[in-house]
Order: sequence, then C-alpha cells, then structure tokens
Amino acid sequence: GVQQIARERLVQEAQFEWRQQDTGLSLLSGIHLALQRDEFYLEYQPQFDSRTGALVGAEALMRWRHPALGVIPPTVFIREAENAGLIQALGQWALRETISAWKQLQELLDQPLRMAVNVSFPEIADPFYAQQVLGLLDQLGMPPQFLELELTETAMIRDTSVSLLNLRQLKAAGVHIVLDDFGTGFSSLSHLNDLPLTGIKLDRAFVSPLPDHGPQNHIVTTMLDLANRLQLETTAEGVEDIACLEEIRRLGCDRIQGYIYARPLALGELISQAKSGFPQHSGFTQGRLF
Ligand code: C2E
Ligand code: MG
Ligand code: MG
Ligand code: MG
Repeated sequence: GVQQIARERLVQEAQFEWRQQDTGLSLLSGIHLALQRDEFYLEYQPQFDSRTGALVGAEALMRWRHPALGVIPPTVFIREAENAGLIQALGQWALRETISAWKQLQELLDQPLRMAVNVSFPEIADPFYAQQVLGLLDQLGMPPQFLELELTETAMIRDTSVSLLNLRQLKAAGVHIVLDDFGTGFSSLSHLNDLPLTGIKLDRAFVSPLPDHGPQNHIVTTMLDLANRLQLETTAEGVEDIACLEEIRRLGCDRIQGYIYARPLALGELISQAKSGFPQHSGFTQGRLF
C-alpha cells in the first residue's frame, strides 16, 4: 500500500545518494550536461480502455542514463531538476520527444493514441507556457486533443493566477488536463471543481491493493463516483494483477495502466507489442487492436 511504496522510494533515493557520494559526482551540474549529452530518454507505458480492452494511449516517463551511475529514476532527479531551475528545459525536451513518438505511432496504428506527459509546477508558472505548448503542437503537426498533461495536486494549487491561466488556455484548445496521484495530496476535494481538469488519475497506492473488500475499496469507489459526477475521465495506474483489473473495471474506471498489461517500454517495444497484441484479459468487448 501507501507505506510500502513510500518505503520503496526512500530505498531508491538512499541507494542513489550512496552511489553519488561514492563517485563524488554532483547531480546538479550533471543534469545540465546530461541534456547537452543526450543522456535523457523516455519510456512509454500503454493505457487501455477498460470497457473494450483497446490500446488508447501512453504515458511518457523520463529516465536518465548516467554514464557512471547507470539508469537514474525520475523519483530521484526530477526534484533536483526543479530545484536547479532545469525542469523547464527538461520538460520542453520531453514534450518534443513525445510529439515525435506520437507521429511515429500515428503512422503505424489505425487509431491515433493520446500521449500523456508529466509536468512540474515551474513549467506552468511560466506565463508563456500554454502559448509555447500550443505553438509546438502546431509547428510539429499534432492536434491538441492527442496531448494529455499530468499534474499533481501540489503543482496545480501552488499558484492561482498564471498557472491556472495556462491550464485554462490549454484545456480550451483541447489538451487534456489530468490531476495525477489523485488522493495522495492534502488539498480539498473542492479543487476538483475549481481546477481546469478533464480527468483524474488514481495513484497506484490506492489501486494496487484492490480488491481488499475493505477501506481501500470504499475510498476508490468514492473517488470514482465523485469523478463521474463531475464528468471527469478516470485512469487507474498500478493495475498489477487480474483480481485488481476486474475490480477496477467493476467500479467503473475508464482507463487502465499497469504492469498487468505492460511496464514502461521503449518506443520500439511499444510499437512491436501494439502490432503483436498486448495481453487480452477476459470480459472485454473487443479483441486486439490489429
Ligand atoms: P507518476 O506520474 O505517478 O507515474 C507512475 C509511476 O508508476 C511510474 O514510475 C510508473 O513506472 C509506475 N507504475 C506504473 N504502473 C505500475 C504498476 O503496475 N506497478 C508499479 N509498481 N509501478 C507502476 P516512474 O517511471 O518511476 O515515475 C515516477 C514519477 O516521476 C512519476 O510518477 C512522475 O511524477 C515523475 N516523472 C516521470 N517522468 C517525468 C517527466 O517527464 N516530467 C516530470 N515533471 N515528472 C516525471
Ligand atoms: Mg504521471
Ligand atoms: Mg500517477
Ligand atoms: Mg503515482
């Protein structure tokens, strides 16, 4: 559950700090150089329609292939990048990369996918953010309705003027705006109504333990019910086994992401798996995409 995931993250970070001390490298100057040296890359974790089982989208997740330390997870370097003022550059890079991936997928699949990108607060705090994103989509030829931006509660409510204007402008243009890690923040439920959202994403801390026939179940049921009433699209991350998949479908969640289908994949792997067919689970109305 929540505690186990928090523990996993602490261990990851502790291990990383240890290795960092060991080699005496500075992470901050590293990020700047790494961008120039092309050491960042994205993996794409597919998302599926919970009713039909069809592949409908993918979330882009960033990784850093460090020459000395190996692959560093985003849980370690995103916060550092934010503190160092480098997250805007990283975010712009990720957006370009994702658009290029969308175009490649678009040429190969009969139905275009929606690509989700994670965004940090300093990015949407830039008064020109929405304009930049829409300009890039236009320039590179990706319609806004195929882009989804994922933001956490803390990122969305930290500022009430510039960041909200950006999100409203993006939403008005057709970009999907999703509240990530829903339920793990400390903000009020009324934010669901105030923020310019199109959907919510249930954190895996709530999803993975399902079905527990107890409190977790009531919490997820209530979150989905609330989202449905507010006409927000719902996505569950961290669906790892068949019992969880069946329960989250029964509770009426719209989209599913998790290891039961696939881990985050290199673009090439995503393409070949989309062609050969992702795992099919019983009870869906439609079979493979191809
Ligand atoms: P997130 O946006 O909540 O992403 C979901 C995380 O859950 C990912 O971890 C994903 O690999 C993992 N996950 C998905 N399905 C399962 C499952 O079934 N079981 C388990 N155990 N895990 C699953 P990841 O890739 O380590 O990313 C961690 C966080 O780093 C993300 O959480 C997001 O907040 C942040 N992040 C990743 N890429 C970016 C980026 O490009 N920009 C920004 N600002 N943040 C990013
Ligand atoms: Mg996310
Ligand atoms: Mg999430
Ligand atoms: Mg999460």
